[in-house]
Amino acid sequence: MTDERLATGIASVDRLLAGGLETDCVTEIYGEGGSGKTLFCLEVAARVARAGRWVFYVDTEGVSVDRLRAIAGSDLDRILKRLLLSTPKNLEEQGRAVATAGALAREGQRPVGLLVVDSATFYYRLSLSGSDEDDARQALSLELADLVVTAREANVPVIITNQVWRSLREGTLEPLGGSFLNHAAKTILRFDRLSGARRRAVLVKHRSLPEGSAEFRITDTGLEGPVPGDRSVPSPPAGVQLT
Ligand code: ATP
Ligand code: MG
Repeated sequence: MTDERLATGIASVDRLLAGGLETDCVTEIYGEGGSGKTLFCLEVAARVARAGRWVFYVDTEGVSVDRLRAIAGSDLDRILKRLLLSTPKNLEEQGRAVATAGALAREGQRPVGLLVVDSATFYYRLSLSGSDEDDARQALSLELADLVVTAREANVPVIITNQVWRSLREGTLEPLGGSFLNHAAKTILRFDRLSGARRRAVLVKHRSLPEGSAEFRITDTGLEGPVPGDRSVPSPPAGVQLT
């Protein structure tokens, strides 16, 4: 475990995470549609690429360049030069894309600053309740194991996003992917929709930080925090420098 953090640039979220994402493990973000998962991935990806480090972005849902342009502003070309985007069309292709990205990151030929899989469970969800459910579960587990090893060996932060299902008994939104996914991710954030453009990141699991939450909002140019009037963010531990 390293003490390094990758700042997301969203001040409230960075405070919640005592500086940002851990660099040697998988961070999972789950939440309902429209909660801001993709925008968060794009925001962090743009930040890393802008700083000249490579981003491997596995996109199962079709990231539009327009959305990235809004976040990137005049840096779009510079950011696109450092973004290696793959758009798998099924779970098998997704596994291959993750394996390739992991191998390139571990090989260390170029400075890799981030690996994103958005969404890790889109194709997996499609195969649930079908005859290939067991195969899909196994494929997802292998892919997650690959991501865990890449993060640890290459010291590259990995963000995966995850969709949710509603537990009718509990009335809660639960992440897909079962317990394996929840063990593979060392940091888990849940994004909630609040009113209008306001969103809340809830820290559900972390290796060294207590549970907590932070508000941010969606703007025309990306994600911003803090939100005026929000008191949900705990103070950062003494000695932590936000970058
Ligand atoms: P999904 O699970 O469907 O992939 P997601 O969690 O990835 O959803 P995003 O695509 O990141 O969600 O966020 C889309 C949300 O952002 C929508 O609710 C949309 O209304 C909101 N949004 C997009 N642009 C703006 C804006 N300029 N101002 C306010 N809200 C915006
Ligand atoms: Mg999305």
